[in-house]
Amino acid sequence: MRFDTVIRNGTVVTATDTFPADVGIVGDKISAIAAGLPVENSGKTIDARGRLLFPGGIDVHTHLDMPFGGTTSADDFETGTIAAAFGGTTTLIDFAIQYKGQSLREAFDTWMKKAEGKAVADFAFHCIITDLGSAQLEEMGQLVREGVSSFKLFMAYPGVFMLDDATIFRAMSQAAKHGGLICMHAENGGAIDVIVQRALAEGKRAPKYHALTRPTTAEGEATSRAIALAEMAGAPVYIVHLSCNEALEKVREARDRGLPAYAETCPQYLFLSLENFDVPGFEGAKYVFTPPLREKWHQEKLWQGLARDTLQVVSTDHCPFCFKEQKELGKDDFTKIPNGGPGIEHRLSLVYTGGVHGKHFSPNRFVELVSTAPARLFGLYPRKGTIAVGSDADIVVFDPHQEDTISAATHHMRVDYSMFEGIRVKGVPKTVLSRGQVIIDGGKFVGRRGAGQFIRRQTYSGV
Ligand SMILES: [Zn+2]
Repeated sequence: MRFDTVIRNGTVVTATDTFPADVGIVGDKISAIAAGLPVENSGKTIDARGRLLFPGGIDVHTHLDMPFGGTTSADDFETGTIAAAFGGTTTLIDFAIQYKGQSLREAFDTWMKKAEGKAVADFAFHCIITDLGSAQLEEMGQLVREGVSSFKLFMAYPGVFMLDDATIFRAMSQAAKHGGLICMHAENGGAIDVIVQRALAEGKRAPKYHALTRPTTAEGEATSRAIALAEMAGAPVYIVHLSCNEALEKVREARDRGLPAYAETCPQYLFLSLENFDVPGFEGAKYVFTPPLREKWHQEKLWQGLARDTLQVVSTDHCPFCFKEQKELGKDDFTKIPNGGPGIEHRLSLVYTGGVHGKHFSPNRFVELVSTAPARLFGLYPRKGTIAVGSDADIVVFDPHQEDTISAATHHMRVDYSMFEGIRVKGVPKTVLSRGQVIIDGGKFVGRRGAGQFIRRQTYSGV
């Protein structure tokens, strides 16, 4: 057998195993994994001595080129997938938004146009449903068959995205029937809106009030309600961007009862806290996203949740808005600050640093959280999410000892600040392959605009 590329002398790390091996690639697939693959049969050789080989990261929660609050998120599918690749993420699942009155098809078509020809690595979509009449209800099965096998619903943002319980219940029942998975933004939007209006009436307008008007109880309550609705509908449910212990406890209780309830958290909830709002002037706007930052003690609970499988996934909820001109839209009113933060580039380094070097879990659990479990839950496995013969050759050559300092001065996201400015990480992607092609090498992007493909996902089948 002749290989197009062989990665030599590395240590393969999957969700279950760690072993030294060479990895042979033919075309866009992994075709052999063995110690000492014959030298004479290889084209390109990558030396991975002293390095770990991970399956390419899968980020199941990104918002590229997304209109929000009168502006648009700052990364498009080209800059966003390049930044992701620098950080070792080779597959994204972004959100196609159905606006009121639209078909789900229109949402899918609109987001395909944003991504096709631009993305440098592979992508897929969830569909955000904001208006569910009988026509759209029928469309859900069709979308699942076309590879859009998950839907996101909101219990927050009344008048914009929020759905009532009856609609959520209907959507869950329909998703279950067709093998779709419901992703839930779980916050009690009705109560939050009243608290927000009170704050504004009291003249509380600074960025920190975005966080102080969204209590953890609102997230805990909605998480509990989402799980109850899913249980009644006989459907699995996936809680997105879980930020606090109250919500974590609800997921743990459900899983203890054997329910198919899953949840993700994001690096910002693991590394940042309310203390980040102790900055001068309007700087706090850099940390305005939803759910908001919490008191610091929640961080350790979330790390434990990741270690104990209460949480299955770390995604980023990457939704970048520049500080200048975008975040500044809310200079005099926190409700006008575009919600979202940039994170697509640093997920693997941050989770490896805090999780593995921080002794919360093993490198195998790390791989499970950033690649394998996302692939399994969202119908990408075993094509993606592992290093195995026949899988796509999406591979990260990772130096677990190299240190780096995160900074807007050196990152590749198209945004003028970093949420993680100054944070030291240990563990950095050195070379990144997407379907057999090297796209990051020696700190440079060497891939191609438009090389990313839309991936039709399979139906939900559990983890
Ligand atoms: Zn989001």
